[in-house]
Amino acid sequence: MQDDTQKINLLDFDRQDMESFFTEMGEKPFRASQLLKWVHQFGVTDFDEMTNVSKSLRTKLAEIAEIRLPEIVEQQLSSDGTCKWVLKLDCGNHVETVYIPEDGRGTLCISSQVGCPLDCSFCATAQQGFNRNLTTAEILGQLRVAHQTLGEMKNVNKPVTNVVLMGMGEPLLNFKNVVKASNLMMDDFAYNLSKYRVTLSTAGIVPSLDKLSDLTSVSLAVSLHAPNDELRNQLVPINRKYPLSELLAACRRFFEKDHRRKITFEYVMLAGVNDQPEHARQLAKILKGIPAKINLIPFNPFNGADYRCSSIEAIDNFRSILVRSGLVTVTRKTRGDDIDAACGQLVGKVADRTKKNRRQIVNFVQEQ
Ligand code: SAH
Repeated sequence: MQDDTQKINLLDFDRQDMESFFTEMGEKPFRASQLLKWVHQFGVTDFDEMTNVSKSLRTKLAEIAEIRLPEIVEQQLSSDGTCKWVLKLDCGNHVETVYIPEDGRGTLCISSQVGCPLDCSFCATAQQGFNRNLTTAEILGQLRVAHQTLGEMKNVNKPVTNVVLMGMGEPLLNFKNVVKASNLMMDDFAYNLSKYRVTLSTAGIVPSLDKLSDLTSVSLAVSLHAPNDELRNQLVPINRKYPLSELLAACRRFFEKDHRRKITFEYVMLAGVNDQPEHARQLAKILKGIPAKINLIPFNPFNGADYRCSSIEAIDNFRSILVRSGLVTVTRKTRGDDIDAACGQLVGKVADRTKKNRRQIVNFVQEQ
């Protein structure tokens, strides 16, 4: 019998991969859509349950392939209905996935890396260091596991209607796997989510951002957090490699290729750091001409953080200045903070943390 670890995990395959897989086996390409449906829509992990697949093909598949999901090792439910799962991967690594129920929708916040190499100074994930990229199966597995678990939970009955790649990690540094997983989320043989409901959030890896809209139609959110390079260099160190002028030029190009949608700009509110009226005015100025929606995120504290959240008055004042400048601006409601499931609080458990210094980050970015 073949060792389980050697088997192909079919959760790693997008439609194209699945078609090539069956063609190479001498099967018809339509097997791909059958399998995608069994795996993603019917939630089957046992080939024997795939009743429209011949017995001989099922036996062959069971020999060489498997459908292996990440394992939930911890589940926490917040008083506001937010649910956080800690998922076990291989080699002692864990990532976190968060489900946020709201009126009329359920948003799943998923991770793309074990830890994060970007080192943003206000983010708890950064303190964990970086271990590795998640595989397509591990990214998508978070959605599969959420679907399955929510279906089984009595007090939570809303399905996942939206996915945001805003958990642990920088999605554009795991480009290939993130693109594949996102496309499967939107594939009508898999999860069939609309492109308006799958959002990728990035700190701004410009070359990857330029390729993104050619390969997938996800919506875009950009973590800005500062209106000038001096401040952004401190808060989001990748800004030293891709400064604001280059990032915003890439955003303009992105919008030109994808006319339908505004880009969301995220801005964490840090007391006395980036929340002054002049910052709001500078922000309005640099975003001129970009169809933008601004999401102000109250800072979520974590152990060892050097920052405090801005006051409600400062956030309101900041928001008013942006609104008066004609920018759609919303303040994000903090969810799940009682279980450390809010933005920037996800830490998982990172085995063998190879905290990347800036030079390593640059190499890492160039390898992508
Ligand atoms: N690396 C990606 C996605 C992960 S973070 C990115 O940078 O966009 C998702 C969002 O949460 C980002 O906007 C991030 O800057 C923000 N965030 C991180 N730490 C935070 C904290 N402590 N409080 C509030 N928001 C935070």
